[in-house]
Amino acid sequence: FLLMLVVTGSYAQSKSHLDQSKPIEERITLLMSQMTLDEKVGQMNQYNGSWDFTGPLPESGSEEEKYEHLKKGWVGSMLNVRGAKEVRAVQRIAVEESRLGIPIIFGFDVIHGYKTLSPIPLAEAASWDLEAIKNSASVAALEAAASGLNWTFGPNVDVGNDARWGRVMEGAGEDPYLGSKIAKARVTGFQGENLNDPTTIASCAKHFAAYGYAEAGREYNTVDMSISKLYNSVLPPFKAAADAGVRTFMNSFNTLNGVPATGDVFLQRDILKGDWGFNGFVVSDWASISEMITHGFAKDGADASAKAVTAGSDLDMESHLYVKELVKLVENGTIKEALIDDAARRILRVKFELGLFDDPYKYCDEAREKATIGNKSNNEAVLDMAKKSIVLLKNDDNLLPLKKSGQKIALIGALASDKNSPLGSWRIAADDNTAVSVLEGMQQYQDNELVYEKGTDVSIGEQLFVQEVKINTDDFSGFDAARNVAKDADVVVMVLGEVGFQSGEGRSRTELGLPGNQQQLLETIFEVNKNIVLVLNNGRPLALPWAAEHIPAIVETWQLGTQAGNAVAQVLYGDYNPSGKLPMSFPRNVGQCPIYYNHLSTGRPVNSQDNVFWSHYIDVENTPLFPFGYGLSYTDFKYSNLKLGKSEYNIGETVELSVEVTNVGDLDGKEVVQLYINDPVASIVRPVKELKGFELVALKKGKTKTITFNLTNAELGFYDNDGNYLVEPGMFNIMVGGSSDSGLKDKFELK
Ligand code: BGC
Repeated sequence: FLLMLVVTGSYAQSKSHLDQSKPIEERITLLMSQMTLDEKVGQMNQYNGSWDFTGPLPESGSEEEKYEHLKKGWVGSMLNVRGAKEVRAVQRIAVEESRLGIPIIFGFDVIHGYKTLSPIPLAEAASWDLEAIKNSASVAALEAAASGLNWTFGPNVDVGNDARWGRVMEGAGEDPYLGSKIAKARVTGFQGENLNDPTTIASCAKHFAAYGYAEAGREYNTVDMSISKLYNSVLPPFKAAADAGVRTFMNSFNTLNGVPATGDVFLQRDILKGDWGFNGFVVSDWASISEMITHGFAKDGADASAKAVTAGSDLDMESHLYVKELVKLVENGTIKEALIDDAARRILRVKFELGLFDDPYKYCDEAREKATIGNKSNNEAVLDMAKKSIVLLKNDDNLLPLKKSGQKIALIGALASDKNSPLGSWRIAADDNTAVSVLEGMQQYQDNELVYEKGTDVSIGEQLFVQEVKINTDDFSGFDAARNVAKDADVVVMVLGEVGFQSGEGRSRTELGLPGNQQQLLETIFEVNKNIVLVLNNGRPLALPWAAEHIPAIVETWQLGTQAGNAVAQVLYGDYNPSGKLPMSFPRNVGQCPIYYNHLSTGRPVNSQDNVFWSHYIDVENTPLFPFGYGLSYTDFKYSNLKLGKSEYNIGETVELSVEVTNVGDLDGKEVVQLYINDPVASIVRPVKELKGFELVALKKGKTKTITFNLTNAELGFYDNDGNYLVEPGMFNIMVGGSSDSGLKDKFELK
């Protein structure tokens, strides 16, 4: 009899959870009723794939332990395993060698493309083109899913307004409204209509929460903020992602008001899983559970595990703590098994939704992988996205677009021939040096005489994701050659900025000028030729006051991904009329940071009569160098006839307004029409302006279009310091225009 029990317990599993006709919740219950506590905890364990599973299997060390855990069913997820063949090899261990054969969910940082890279997310945000952004995410999903993956750690929906923080490159900029729209576009792009479709992947809203407000922009630093700021500025894109059906969240490294986000009950249990009813799972950030010990919030691994699971962190990424501690913690009564059941159920739910129980190898089709990765249509899609991400910052005397022939053009700057930096940070699966450089792009789009000199190096030494970037500051040997080609040129195109790994995780900077001696190079060339088009490559706003004053044409091209050079060339030569608008303010100098458009009014505003008491610095203007929402076109747009439906509305009524936009220039173009509101008197001081609507309009030259906007309670209210949403009566100011710093104005009253 005893033997029979053992046999039933260990081997004779019911397969009833594989019955696809049953509802998912029932299938989970059927499966969980067979799972031991160890196996349930196993689902909550995620390992980094640190060895080649298609080769000989590991026999010792931590790799062997991971392998043993896989076989025991103690691993729910792996990250960084990739490629249809390798994923299949790992999945086979889980499905065929573990007792219950529960498939693994494979996570990966698919941040801006997989192998074929889109622009960095901040650049994409500059397009304000939600369809294009969604499409970019679906192309990334298509490639990742063909390569065995079924889950991305994206989108990063962290609102951030401090350009010193290197991870602003991963987000959508400083504005919660734009960020929310983009969060939805990305989630729906990655996940598609149906998670079960093997060409889409589950997505992850990260980092929950407030990571983008690291003090002084220093990576991983403390965050301290009011509840109203948290609700009004940080949470909206997360909520938008949740409403769009995002299946997972990632918590974050930072503390929020003294509590590490990973151990924060308020964030994960109360808000996310409580108020928002989120029924997917939360993954910790890399080792963020064990980091709670270093934070001084947990005394050891057991304590950290208990605190994390209690707070609602379901899956342990690489702390290796849940698998060690949770079973003991249940057995000694520190935590209830119900917590484990809840976490395991959430993780299994997403696996069922992905269809992994129906076919664990559905993402492991090598023929599909070969046909999909890097194919023509993916390259066309990222090129389209790249063009849309470019922002024209200055264009005096219509220096741009350049003529395609009959000119002598000098191209200067190491970044002009750099095939790696345009790929940006977070492109783990892409091969190095696979971007089309600006030099290569320009060569293709013109018949001018084009001469190239790098002038100076930006980085010296190898560029690796985890290593510090070494920047050249003292080698000026290339300056003379650059001066020589510049002096006889009709136009000089200078490509300057940051190398790819100067932004991204662990890449905070205290200087926001051009790195190394590029500023000196720019000024040196300016001495011999003033006809300069400055093409910026960077992963964050830069502070370039000298360039803004002296250089006639400036184009912000960020890090545009695989097709970077082609996109830049099409804009420089006028085959594409730029329409991007900045998703983050560009400061005049680093001391202004954080500088952002939707700040509060102080009691000493800048229009005070008494200069002495202004809230300002004595050495720089209060305004940014280039504001949020700003960007030019090769044509011009005029705004007229701003009309409000009524001058008074009752709370709850929809406020309707319209504006006419005319393309008054000589070229067809696109404009991002932006609507800002301001609530001048409220129970909590409100921002001087807040974006509450936008529309990207294509207008042929000479044409006019009427754009309408609606404002409802969702746009007119705000959260107070208890997290309550209020819509208060009173006057509201509105502004509609092509940037946050200018537009037509009107007002209405809410009764
Ligand atoms: C980052 C996450 C990322 C994870 C896995 C962490 O260091 O903060 O954004 O998803 O690593 O690579």
